[in-house]
Amino acid sequence: MHELSVTQSILDIVFDHARRHESKKILKVRLVIGKMSGVVADSIRFCFDAITKETMAEGAALEIEEVAYTGKCAVCARSFEILNYTLLCPDCGSTDIEITGGLELYVKEFETE
Ligand SMILES: [Zn+2]
Repeated sequence: MHELSVTQSILDIVFDHARRHESKKILKVRLVIGKMSGVVADSIRFCFDAITKETMAEGAALEIEEVAYTGKCAVCARSFEILNYTLLCPDCGSTDIEITGGLELYVKEFETE
């Protein structure tokens, strides 16, 4: 399961920081997940609860910001949400689209005590 290794990597980062700052407990973790990042937010939640049992992150709140899949047309500069994976400008019909959002997958912040 892809989400399991992703969640483990996320927690490795958080635990590493927490240890260096001599934190005892992780209270909250906030993630940013793009709709096209390849992971499913609900699966991350499920894995997070499972992996954090009996660790310093047990019971921590997991907040996930989901980012829409967006692009910008290189021809007319229109920005738009990409639907149905179609890289096509809704204004001028160009297929020269720069992806501007939706691929994110990172830890934005977390709280410890
Ligand atoms: Zn366009």
